[in-house]
Parts: sequence; structure tokens; C-alpha cells
Amino acid sequence: MTGIRVSHKARDPGPPAWDVILPSAQAHPVLEGSVVADWLVIGAGFAGLAAARRLRQLHPEAIIVLLEARRIAEGPVGRNSGFMIDLPHNLASDDYAGALEADRIQTAMNRSAISFARDAACEYEMGSEAFVVSGKTNAAASAKGMRHNLTYAKHLGTLGEDHELLDDRQMREICGSDYYRGGLYTPGTAMLQPALFARGMADGLVSQGVKVFENSPVVALQRSAGSWSAKTDIASVQSPRVILAVNGHVESFGFFKRRLMHICLYASMTRPLSEDEQRRLGGERLWAFTPADPMGTTARKIAGSGGTRIVVRNGFTWNPARSVDEAGLKTLGRAHEKTFRARFAMLGDVDMEHSWGGFLCLSRNNVAAFGEVDEGLFSACCQNGLGAARGTLSGMLAAEQASGNETDHLRYMLAQPQPGRLPPEPVASIGANAVMRWGEFRAGAEL
Ligand SMILES: Cc1cc2nc3c(=O)[nH]c(=O)nc-3n(C[C@H](O)[C@H](O)[C@H](O)COP(=O)(O)OP(=O)(O)OC[C@H]3O[C@@H](n4cnc5c(N)ncnc54)[C@H](O)[C@@H]3O)c2cc1C
Repeated sequence: MTGIRVSHKARDPGPPAWDVILPSAQAHPVLEGSVVADWLVIGAGFAGLAAARRLRQLHPEAIIVLLEARRIAEGPVGRNSGFMIDLPHNLASDDYAGALEADRIQTAMNRSAISFARDAACEYEMGSEAFVVSGKTNAAASAKGMRHNLTYAKHLGTLGEDHELLDDRQMREICGSDYYRGGLYTPGTAMLQPALFARGMADGLVSQGVKVFENSPVVALQRSAGSWSAKTDIASVQSPRVILAVNGHVESFGFFKRRLMHICLYASMTRPLSEDEQRRLGGERLWAFTPADPMGTTARKIAGSGGTRIVVRNGFTWNPARSVDEAGLKTLGRAHEKTFRARFAMLGDVDMEHSWGGFLCLSRNNVAAFGEVDEGLFSACCQNGLGAARGTLSGMLAAEQASGNETDHLRYMLAQPQPGRLPPEPVASIGANAVMRWGEFRAGAEL
């Protein structure tokens, strides 16, 4: 008999702003009583939602249960910047590029995830505010950023990928600001309103008979007589096969200990811009910028049911205990105000309405925490900061593996090494903090 007590509850600082700005969602029920299922998925982020959808496709008649600790879209799935990126995007590199062959394969796999998400968005009638393949621009604000873009463009050329270098005038026409010296546009990224997407996925799954429960954190997992029993404080699910789609929380279930890096990322969103402010800003209705330097600022203009707003993201903290204090969030919120004003001085009286953080999980060797970790128990975790595409992919592939299917992408995933072991504390924390602060310092005007 295997018994696992879950040691830590999911928590992220500040409000899940993408969800807060939407009209309130219909609640999913809390798990009650003793439920018997054919499949159980734990965690309703990108990975869990994709796993449940792929399972439903593969097993139309099966009983599939999806358990989420919080409300749907309250976790990192509803806290990210909404870039579902197709191309190589190695956050640990200077310019996102990696080794050629690995980048080719990762791009093909990311595209299969984007296409899976596009089919879901279409089938569940989510609309273009939730999901649209509109591409993104790597925005450069410094000579160094311009050099990164040129190196990255060359890499994309070698990969045979479409891209377009933009000058300062074109950047101003897009975003209304003359902050940027240039950009590198690539067409394949899907842009999400992440909370709307997560809600749409969960509602779509319910319409296909998947039993979705929210506010139902699993506190213990136990295997006996060929089946797993997942317990919440008040109820339980019995299932022979379980997919753990809890990202860094997989460590709380006792797996991949001392192999995962827990990082909190921070973002802020303005209040809705008035018509007059939108005119003052100028530029296009929607745009989406990742920074030319991976340590720099991501910025987006969004428009839809939550209003027209600008969203900025920068700042990382290393949090092995997966908790941050609200004072740290306030400091980052102030830094975001500064970032915003540097770019959009014409909107001097516009404040940030929401600031928040969210946990993500990285491994030293940029691989997922993936595979069968115990009999009938599958992990689809650690997306290395790119969970929109890579989490979706992990979830799809975990569903394939748990169903006994073999695909090229699954074989590739299973051939990857396990996440590398971290150095002991305090060496790991000192090293990680030094790398992050140095990276931010070097990012200069890209921050
Ligand atoms: C500010 C910010 C910006 C980001 N921007 C981007 C971006 O633009 N593009 C991108 O690709 N990625 C981005 N990310 C990263 C992205 O959000 C994550 O990589 C992604 O959410 C990981 O997906 P996941 O499904 O693996 O895990 P998560 O989304 O973290 O989902 C795991 C879920 O498991 C649940 N859970 C945990 N423990 C339990 C339990 N015991 N019982 C039940 N449920 C449990 C959690 O509540 C959570 O909802 C960003 C992150 C942040 C914070």
C-alpha cells in the first residue's frame, strides 16, 4: 500500500486579476461523498484541463473527474500573461534560442499543443477574446535588445521560421509609444485571456460529461487493491489511474524533491482606459510584446469584456517554500508602475488596478517532471515557465501515456532526462538569487 500526505496547499499572492475583471463565473461544485471514477486528474491548470480533454477524446464513455484546489482560473493558469508560444523560448538563455534540432522538435510539439487548444476553443465556442493566434513581437528597447533580436532572427532563419524585423516607427504604430527601438514579429503565438480560456475549457469539459470540482484540494493519496484513493478534507475519489497536473506542487505529493525550482513571477494591470485615454495612447487595438531580453518586461494591450487595459509583467523571486509575503508584492507593484510610466508617459494619470504574483516551476536542465511516478500515477508537471504551450502538451501526453498509447511526441518526452538535482541549501538560494538579480540588472532598459 502506498500512502502520500500532501504537504503544502496551493497559494499565490494578490488577486487573479484576469478572472476578477470578468463577469463572475458559474461555480463548479465542491467534491462531496465518495466518488468512483475511471480517471482522475488533479489540478485544473493548462496541463490538467488538457489531460481531461484528451482523456475524454480517447475514452468517450469513461467517468473522468477533475479536481482543483481553488476556483478554476484562480491559480497560475489565470495569472499568466497569456502567451501560448510556438517557437523556442528558453528563458535561461540570452535570446531564447537553443540547440537547433531540439528547438525544431520543441516547436513542433508546442504547435501540436496550440492546435489542440485551438480546436478546444473552437469546439467550446470560447471566442477570440479567450484564444486567438495573432503572433507576438519581441520588443527591444536598447542596443543590446536589438542585438538579441538579430541573433534570434538568424536562429529563426536557420530553422526556416517566418519572422519580420520591425523598426522604431513600426513599433510606435503598433503600441503608441516611442520607447522601443525595434521588434521581431513571429506569427505563430496564440494570445489568451487566460482566465476566460481556463473557464471555457472547464465549462466545455463539463458539457462533455467530465466531472469538474473546484475548491477541492487533495490532501492525501493512497493506493490499495489496484486503485488510488484521493482524499480531500471532506470527500474522496477512487480511480485506478491518476494524472498529477499540479506543476511545482508535485513536490508536495513527495515526487521530484530537490529537483524543482519554485519561482514567483509578478504582473500588474491598469484600470480600464477611457475612450480619451485610448486616443491619447494611439496604436493598434491589441498588441503583445515579449521582451527581447528574457529578463525584461512583457507588455500587452488587451480589449474585451474586462475593458481596454495594459498589462505588464516583470520581476522574479526565488521561493523554495512556495510562499511570498504581500509586502514583496507591493514592491513589485511599484516597480510595475515605473515600468509602465517609462513606456506610456502619455497615460500619466492611469494607475495599476491590480498587481499579483503566481508560482511557476523550472528545472535546471529545462525538462518536464513527466512520466509514470508510481503504478497508475502519472506526472504532467514542471513546464519551465511556458505552461500555456508546454503544460497543454504535458497534459495531452500524460493522457496518451496513461491510456497506453505511443506517439512520437510521447516517445520524445519520455526519452528526456529527469529534472536535475539542485545544489544543497543555502547554495541553491544564494546562486539563484544572484543569477536573477544579475539578469535583471543586465536587462537594463528592457526591464
Ligand atoms: C505573472 C505570470 C506570467 C506568466 N506568463 C506566461 C505566459 O505568457 N506564457 C506561458 O506559457 N506561461 C506563463 N506563465 C507560466 C504559466 O502560468 C505556468 O507555466 C502554467 O500555469 C503552468 O501550468 P500547469 O497546468 O502545469 O500548472 P498550474 O497552472 O500551476 O496549475 C496547477 C493547478 O494545480 C492545482 N493544485 C495544486 N495542488 C493541488 C491539490 N493538492 N489538489 C488539487 N489541485 C491542486 C493548483 O491550484 C493549480 O490550479 C506565467 C506565470 C506567471 C505567474
